[in-house]
Parts: sequence; structure tokens; C-alpha cells
Amino acid sequence: MGHPWLVWSAEHIGHRLTGTTHGAKAEVLADSLFRASGLAAVHYAPFRARAWQRDSVGLLLSAADSSFRPACVALAHSPVLASVRGGLLDVGNGLPEDLARSKEHIRGRIVLVNLGLVGAPKEASNLHRSEKTALAIEAGAAAVLFVNNVEGHVLLTGTASVNGDLISIPAACISSEDGALVRRWLAGGKEVVGALNMANESEVVTARNIVAEIQGSDLADEVVLVGGHLDCWDLATGATDNGLGSFSILDMARCLKNCDIKPRRTIRFVLFMGEEQGLLGSKALVEQYRASGELDRIRCMVNMDMTGHPQGFGVMGPSGWKEQIELINTGIRTVDSASFAGRTTTGAWLHSDHQPFMLAGVPVINPHSDLGSHVYGCYHSSCDDIHLVDPQAMLDNVRFVGMLLTALADADTLPAHFTDMALRDRLIQEGLEEKLRIGGDWRW
Ligand SMILES: [Zn+2]
Repeated sequence: MGHPWLVWSAEHIGHRLTGTTHGAKAEVLADSLFRASGLAAVHYAPFRARAWQRDSVGLLLSAADSSFRPACVALAHSPVLASVRGGLLDVGNGLPEDLARSKEHIRGRIVLVNLGLVGAPKEASNLHRSEKTALAIEAGAAAVLFVNNVEGHVLLTGTASVNGDLISIPAACISSEDGALVRRWLAGGKEVVGALNMANESEVVTARNIVAEIQGSDLADEVVLVGGHLDCWDLATGATDNGLGSFSILDMARCLKNCDIKPRRTIRFVLFMGEEQGLLGSKALVEQYRASGELDRIRCMVNMDMTGHPQGFGVMGPSGWKEQIELINTGIRTVDSASFAGRTTTGAWLHSDHQPFMLAGVPVINPHSDLGSHVYGCYHSSCDDIHLVDPQAMLDNVRFVGMLLTALADADTLPAHFTDMALRDRLIQEGLEEKLRIGGDWRW
């Protein structure tokens, strides 16, 4: 039922941006579907968050003999009102070494930055747009103009704030084609001046995560949590980011409940709001669990963000977790070796709802997916609509992640959480210290 529910939502609710009436309708829909499926302990977990909405944006780029108005979109958490005029400066990929090269020239300029990595050495690791913006602000830029790396006049939105607060300068995105044109001007020695004006709305609102359970039996106090974000950006209907994950979770809850399984541990289903505006819902839930003393009972967290056709699972946990996941992958392959490769990997990454759990020491698991470049090219863009969703991808989510959840819930024992020092060492080993520092999330 995940796919028909998602089709209905796309047609009747549209986008699901946190803090808007659309977002509130999506919260009610998810709550109703959990209830209709007969889940236990269905409830809202509200949190306060600074919501952000675009109003208008305009960009004029002028050189000595020509000017044009490229299509552009504002990035979230840009100021409520901004009017900036300044010379354009190309800082390439916008990594610390790129900014260091142009250090004396950045102040007061509109910096042109690639969203992706272009021409970087193979070992270079990209930064999130919010991290690049934080570095540009620190260097004194007047505005950030991101150049999308997807061809076809596609514009990308997303947050430019590392912590969910408004940023001090405007940030916007232009297409790869318009970016290339400006760069031809700059390469020809022209001085290019940009005038960027925007109006946005921002207010503190109450948003709601939606929670439901299948209660456990002899180990009911221990929780296996599966979560994914229900909210999405407003340029389209967020069908793949993250209708795929969130509506698959709704259907997984329905199926497991219908199968009348009696898991040993409690399986908890969470749909987060506020992910796109800075992991606001998952951060709030982890803080609520910490305050209530429940965090220790969350044995692991499975995150479904743009998940489809899982081919295995990646895990970030202390010793024992890799073996645990290997065992489960092997078990799933005894049921279906034709459509499930059963790959096990270890590793850590940031910027989805698993992050607050991971930083609290909770082992996190991510299904491996490859949705194809036609889907990834529409990430955060106006083309992320229902035509991109393969119903089979959602069925496979329910089948394979459903089996993962029941196996985790029924295991005799599960390996431990990270200790604080082991987590610190592991994050360093995974190369995440610098990124977490830029985001203000490094506590050691
Ligand atoms: Zn997402």
C-alpha cells in the first residue's frame, strides 16, 4: 500500500515542508495510517523548530557589455530580507583549500561555488552545502551562489545552515548551464557584478514527529527503531526524498502488524519532520529520549532516506555489529537470493536522521540503495515527483527492511552501544571530525 498512499499524498497534499499547512496535513495522514493499520502507542512527538519558507528571489548578473537574469532558487535559512550587490568570485568547490587560495579577495564578494566536486583530486571529500556556506561566511563573503552539478537547467534547494538558525548572508543556486556561462565571462577577464535580492519567511513553529509501535514480548523494554523523514522540500512533492522511505515505513508497519508477528523486542516506527531544515525532528527526539532516560533502551536505529531496492545494509556500530548484520543478510538470502545481494559494509556519513542517534552512541544501520542517476539528478529539485518512484522499490523496502527489523527484534542478544571514547575514535577514523566541527557538533 506504500505506493498508492504516496500517490494519494502527492495528489492531495503536495509537498510536505515542515511548518506549512502541507506539512501539518502530512503529519495527520501518517498518524491516521498508523492508526488504521492497528499499530500500538501511536502518538505525536512535538518539537519546536524554526521553520523557513521561500517567498521571492531575483538575480541579475552584469558584465561590461551584457547582463542576464538566470533562474535561481534561494537556499533555506537565507535571511528573511536580503539585497546584496557585489563582484563575483569563483572559488571552485568551496573547500577550505579553495577558500584559502582566494583569501584576500573574498570579503564583500558574491562567491560562486560548485555544489558537487569538479576537477578535485580523487581523494578529496566534498562538504555539505551548509558547511561550504559556513566557511564562506567565516571568510567574509557577501553571498553564496551555488552552481548545480546536474545538467538540464535543474535547480536545487536545501538548507544552507549548519544548525537550523538563519544564516547571515543570502545563499542561492543557479543551474549548471548558467554557471558555465558566468565562468566563461570570468575566464575571459570580465568583471561580473551580481545583484541578489530575496524575501523569505521564518518563524518558530511546533512540528510533530509521528511514532507507532509493535510491542515486544519478553524483551519489550528494548527497542529496535526504524525511522525516516516525512518532510520534504517545496519545489516538488518529495516523492523520492523521502516519500520512498517514509511511505515504505508506513506500509512496513501495516504488513508486520497484519502478519501478527510477536517480536521479542519492541519495533518502533518513527516518521520525522524537520529533517530537511537541519535534522530538527530527529535531534529533538534524541534529546527527549536522553531526558527521559530512554536512550539506553534504543538498541539500534535503522534509517530509511531515499531507500529503494535494498541490496544489503551498512552499519556504524562498535564491535559485533558487522557480524550481526552479516548474519542477518545471510538469513535474508536464504529466503530470496535472486533479488537481494546481501552486502554488508561499515562506515559513517552525515546529514540524515541517523546522525543524532549516531552521535549519541546508538548503532545505526542504513540500507544500500542505488536508485539511478535519473532519480539522484532530481534530488531537492522541481522534478522530484511521483513518476520517479518504482512501486517495486517500495515493496522491496518492506520485504528486506521488514526482515531486518524482525531479525534484530528476535536476536538472542544485540551488541552494545558505542562508549563515548570509542565513538570519538571511530568518527576520527571515518574522517568526520572536520565536518562535525564546522557543523558545531564536535563535543570532544
Ligand atoms: Zn532526505
